[in-house]
Amino acid sequence: MININEYTLDELEEYIEMLGEKKFHAKQIFKWLHKEKIESFDDMTDISKSLRDKLKEQTYILKLSIINVQKSKKDGTIKFLIKLEDDTAIESVFMKYNYGNSMCVSSQVGCKMGCKFCASTKEGYVRNLLASEIEGQIIAVEKYTGERISNVVYMGIGEPLDNYDNVVKSIRLINYPLGLNIGARHISLSTCGVVPNIYKLADENIQSTLSISLHCTTDIERKKIMPIANKYTINELLEACRYYIKTTGRRISFEYALINDVNDTKEDALNLVKLLRGMIAHVNLIPVNEIKNGVYIKSKEKNIEIFMNTLNSSGIVSTVRRELGSDIDAACGQLRQKHIEENNQ
Ligand code: SAH
Repeated sequence: MININEYTLDELEEYIEMLGEKKFHAKQIFKWLHKEKIESFDDMTDISKSLRDKLKEQTYILKLSIINVQKSKKDGTIKFLIKLEDDTAIESVFMKYNYGNSMCVSSQVGCKMGCKFCASTKEGYVRNLLASEIEGQIIAVEKYTGERISNVVYMGIGEPLDNYDNVVKSIRLINYPLGLNIGARHISLSTCGVVPNIYKLADENIQSTLSISLHCTTDIERKKIMPIANKYTINELLEACRYYIKTTGRRISFEYALINDVNDTKEDALNLVKLLRGMIAHVNLIPVNEIKNGVYIKSKEKNIEIFMNTLNSSGIVSTVRRELGSDIDAACGQLRQKHIEENNQ
């Protein structure tokens, strides 16, 4: 059976023509699936019974099931554990901001990158998500909350640039005016620094924002907490970032998790200023989320403040990320980690 949600509009048009039907039906069907988010072919009221029957014979509508929900009492953040068709599980987070509703989506089941402070990596890597499974998280959450999502960040489980083709396809799916209609400028991809694919993405002509998980200012320190640093140096990473900025005209966000006694001294901040000087960039400082069985703890308030002030007074715009959902398992990967542990007991 074909997962019909996986077709782009062009692919759906080709498929409908192959069925011996008129191409324009593809637009109607696409809208039913991606905008109206229907779960049954019988709800496609402007599609003939015979075409619906053909579709039912060969295809199915992807449905992801929400199996656990944690709601923050503080700020309305909702974290979802979502089950895929092969019974693996991923996480998605719904967040309310004053500019609209935002969602954090997963791009893989598990992760290979092995960042030491990250919960997503603890239960290992299983597989890439399909484009429709990435989009499907938004569909499931829009249906659950009854709210429209206007911003999407690829900061859930997985490394988006390690699942390049499906991730790029998912951006196109999410972007269609006939579908979820979320503007590319409202979509942000986060990477630990898969350098060749930063170049590839720059040439894709998609207007999405790029975030780089930098977290350290020297290769020696970065290698201690991020294995990807053994493959690409900070210089190579920043060279790719400069290419991305030049090619797309988009500014880059740098993520910097502040970890006590690891990367949070004034000297680190001054190093960061040197690295980013002259780049159109923004730094997101994230007091590290302490995960289960993790060894890293948050920087002290005073050090966070000194770090931020050092950046800002040197002209590097930085903000401390508002910690949404701090009363739930908000750091990505935590809910899945718990789920797997409970099921193994
Ligand atoms: N693999 C991608 C996207 C997923 S992680 C990436 O590395 O960018 C999303 C962001 O959360 C990354 O910046 C990641 O480094 C950060 N992160 C992961 N675990 C964290 C934790 N425990 N505390 C703070 N930030 C964390």
